[in-house]
Amino acid sequence: MVPVPTPADVDADLVGRLRGAGLRVTPQRLALHRLIAAENRHLTAEALLREASATLPGLALPTVYSTLELFAELGVVRRVAAPGAARYDTDPTPHDHFTCVRCGQLYDLDTSAGRAAARRAAESAGHAVESASVVVSGVCASCLA
Ligand SMILES: [Zn+2]
Ligand SMILES: [Zn+2]
Repeated sequence: MVPVPTPADVDADLVGRLRGAGLRVTPQRLALHRLIAAENRHLTAEALLREASATLPGLALPTVYSTLELFAELGVVRRVAAPGAARYDTDPTPHDHFTCVRCGQLYDLDTSAGRAAARRAAESAGHAVESASVVVSGVCASCLA
């Protein structure tokens, strides 16, 4: 079993990344990072704002967006294009997604073979690939049930 990181470990990870990038460590950044580190999921900025407003009164949506974008640059989260609002994946390792056109939910998929093929197709067209991800869309199993 993977040991569950303590809040101190979670803070230390972010502090290391912020300092490494020459950025300020703020109580707000630490608090938002603690919330997103609590579990693996695909967050919208709106959902994170709802969760955070109890501990961070006065927090505004644009601040949540800019913090999530900053976390994406630091490799803490990964932005995933999805119908409707952008989702921030708390698992930044490469993996793919199924998006539901009905409920907007995002599900993890393992399509490493498809990702490799997409990468090769881009390279053979002469493009320099930085990242590749596959998004499959449709109606999810729980909406179908
Ligand atoms: Zn659905
Ligand atoms: Zn994911």
